[in-house]
Amino acid sequence: MNERPETNPLGEFDLIERFFKRPLSNSNPQILLGIGDDCALISCSAKDQPGALAISTDMLIEGRHFLPGADPGLLGHKALAVNLSDLAAMGATPTAFTLAIAMPEAKAEWLEDFSNGLLKIANHYHCPLIGGDTTAGPLTISITVFGRVNHTQALQRSNAQLGDDIWISGTVGDARLALGAIRQEWLLTPAEMALVAPRMHAPTPRIVLGQKLLGIAHAAVDVSDGLLGDLSHILKMSQVGAEIEIDQIPRSDTLSEQALERQRLCTLMGGDDYELCFTAPRVHRKTIQSLAKELDLNLTKIGVITPPTPSLMILLDDSGQILPAEESQHYLNSFDHFKTAT
Ligand code: ADP
Ligand code: MG
Repeated sequence: MNERPETNPLGEFDLIERFFKRPLSNSNPQILLGIGDDCALISCSAKDQPGALAISTDMLIEGRHFLPGADPGLLGHKALAVNLSDLAAMGATPTAFTLAIAMPEAKAEWLEDFSNGLLKIANHYHCPLIGGDTTAGPLTISITVFGRVNHTQALQRSNAQLGDDIWISGTVGDARLALGAIRQEWLLTPAEMALVAPRMHAPTPRIVLGQKLLGIAHAAVDVSDGLLGDLSHILKMSQVGAEIEIDQIPRSDTLSEQALERQRLCTLMGGDDYELCFTAPRVHRKTIQSLAKELDLNLTKIGVITPPTPSLMILLDDSGQILPAEESQHYLNSFDHFKTAT
C-alpha cells in the first residue's frame, strides 16, 4: 500500500508564495507592484503625472463566503464592496470592474435583486461594470476591480516606518460577532443582531479615507481576514514590529457589552469588517484627527511601529501589561482558507 506521509497543510499565503509568486525582475517594467499587496500596480503615467492602474480580484463562493439562500441584493453589494475595499487600501480611485459569475440556474427574480444591489454600489462609487463572463455552475461571484492612483504615494504594505503610529478606522469586530451568532457560537438578542448584522452583510469600503490618506499615511491594509493577521502583512513586508494596545481598539457599544474574551476575539481576529488599518508618522496626528472630523469617521490610534520583535508584535492590555506569548500568538492567527476550520 502506498501511504503518503502526513504533512502540514499548506496555508493560503504559503501556497501563493510557493506556486504563484515569482520575481518580476525580468518581466514588463510597467509592472510596478505584483503579488502580495491589496492591489497590483501597473504604470500608466500621462505626461507629468505619475499614475498607475490598481487591480484587485476577490471571489465569493456559496457555502464558503456566504450561506446558501443569502439575500441576493446584499450579495451584489458585498461582492463589489470587498473589491473596492482593496482599492481603498491603496488609496486608489475606482475606475471600473468586471464580473465573472457562475450560477446553478438563471432565475430572473434572483438576478434582478443581485444586479440591483451590485449596480447601486457601482453607481455610488462611479465604478461601472465593463465586462465579465457568465456560466452555469455552483454559485460563485468573482470580481476584478480597476482603479487609478499616483503610484509615488500609493499606500503599500511594505512602507511602514519605525515610530509610525498605527491607526484603525471606524470600529472592528461586529461582523465576527454577527457570524458567531449565526454559527451558534453564542447568543445575541434580535435587537443586537439587527445592529451588528449589517456590518457582515453590507460592508462600506473606505474609498474616500484611502484617497485622503495619500501623502499622509505610509502603509495600509483593509481588514478582511482579522485585524492582527492583516496588520502582520504590513509588519512582515516592512520588516518592522509593533506594539498594540488591544483594549484601545474601537468597538461598537453592542460588542463592548460582551465578555472581554469575546470582545478580544472579535476585534483582534474577526474578519469582514473592511476598515482600514494604516500607519503614519507622528507629525500627522493632528491632520488625521481633523480628517476624522471631516469624514465623520472615527480614526483611532491603536499602537506604534517598533523595531522587529521575534513575536512580530507585542500586545498590551488596559493596564500596560504584556499579554502572555501563547495568547498573543493565538490572536495573530487570522482567517486562512486552508487552515481555519469553518
Ligand atoms: P486581500 O485579502 O487583500 O484580497 P489576499 O489575501 O486575497 O489579498 O491575497 C494576498 C495577495 O496574493 C494579493 O496580492 C493577491 O493578489 C495575491 N493572490 C491571491 N491569490 C492569487 C493567485 N491565485 N495567483 C496570484 N496571486 C494571488
Ligand atoms: Mg485587502
